[in-house]
Amino acid sequence: MGFSTRQIHAGVTPDPMTGAILTPIYQTTTYVQPSVDEYLSKGYSYSRSANPTVRALELKLADLEGGIDCSCFGTGMAAIQGVMLAFLSAGDHAVISDVAYGGTYRLCTKVLSRFGVEFTFADTSRPDEVAAAVRDNTRLILTETPANPTMKSSDIAAISEIAKSAGAVHAVDNTFLTPYYQRPLELGADVSIHSTTKYMDGHNATVGGAVICRTADQDEAVRFIQNSTGSIMSPQVAWLTLQGCKTLSIRMDQQSANAMAIARYLESHPKVEQVCYPGLESFSQHALACGQATGFGAMLWFEVKGGLAAGKTLMDNVELWSLAENLGSVESLITHPVTMTHADVEEAERQRVGIIDGLVRLSVGLEDAQDLIDALEQALDRV
Ligand SMILES: *Cc1c(COP(=O)(O)O)cnc(C)c1O
Repeated sequence: MGFSTRQIHAGVTPDPMTGAILTPIYQTTTYVQPSVDEYLSKGYSYSRSANPTVRALELKLADLEGGIDCSCFGTGMAAIQGVMLAFLSAGDHAVISDVAYGGTYRLCTKVLSRFGVEFTFADTSRPDEVAAAVRDNTRLILTETPANPTMKSSDIAAISEIAKSAGAVHAVDNTFLTPYYQRPLELGADVSIHSTTKYMDGHNATVGGAVICRTADQDEAVRFIQNSTGSIMSPQVAWLTLQGCKTLSIRMDQQSANAMAIARYLESHPKVEQVCYPGLESFSQHALACGQATGFGAMLWFEVKGGLAAGKTLMDNVELWSLAENLGSVESLITHPVTMTHADVEEAERQRVGIIDGLVRLSVGLEDAQDLIDALEQALDRV
């Protein structure tokens, strides 16, 4: 069946007790067992190990990504941590996209590095650099594409080949495009990761994460970490995310159409220095974006002439766009990564990977495109 049908129906069956069409929020700690010999006969023992509401979301996301199964986590960062703890041990090495979510960089450099795991931050937009970074003890390659916030894109199929010949797991942070536009497992990757906080929820209501694996062994390894570390998603969050997923495709299509209109508007504005959106022909990796995804998403960035000072004036004065972290929701948000989402990335590293001081990131929402453009126009007038 098609994606829109599956985003509504996969993983969910009417409640057997009442016929409720929505999976209830199973707010319970424990599950009464019929007898000692029938322990786990209904599949549930304790809500750290599994919860029926969370399970419904896991089955839905596994279906949408084309994986064998899915494990949900308390946040996107917990999901990324789950992948790292599942596939890395002391003495191992991992290759990570040099442009990635700031929290991913912090997790590697400030936390897991303390446990004897080594990381190389490589330019994953160049498969040859990934191949050159691989060592005998490389067990994981984590690619974020398109990457937050520069939109740098990486060839999932080519990197999956490199991972395969190195005997490493290739995990892709698929948060920006979602399985509606990009399915890493179909392109050869082993694992797809989400911050469900973003497009899956889509309504600025929750924080959550998910890991979808290709094989049963990989899924078991991640689920073991989910239970062992207790970094689980709550049933309320799973319930809200289940509702969000049902409109994923129409939100993605409309938000992407809005993003394209805004990118074209900004590109033609005399006060704008540069615009970066994968859907623009001027995007340096436009061909790759067209080749491995079926849509361009709703994230873009631009630089105002006058750099950081002008950008700050714009962000402090723009109406309708909320100055806030997060992305992917129906509300349009404007963010300054250097002081907000990527503040923990050292300045030299930011400069090296192109997170420039004047970069203004837009998460385009579901409002009328013209209203969003009018608000930017008024703010640009004041710059
Ligand atoms: C937000 C984000 C994360 C982290 O997710 P949280 O839910 O905030 O923990 C990871 N990767 C990407 C690409 C993100 O945008």
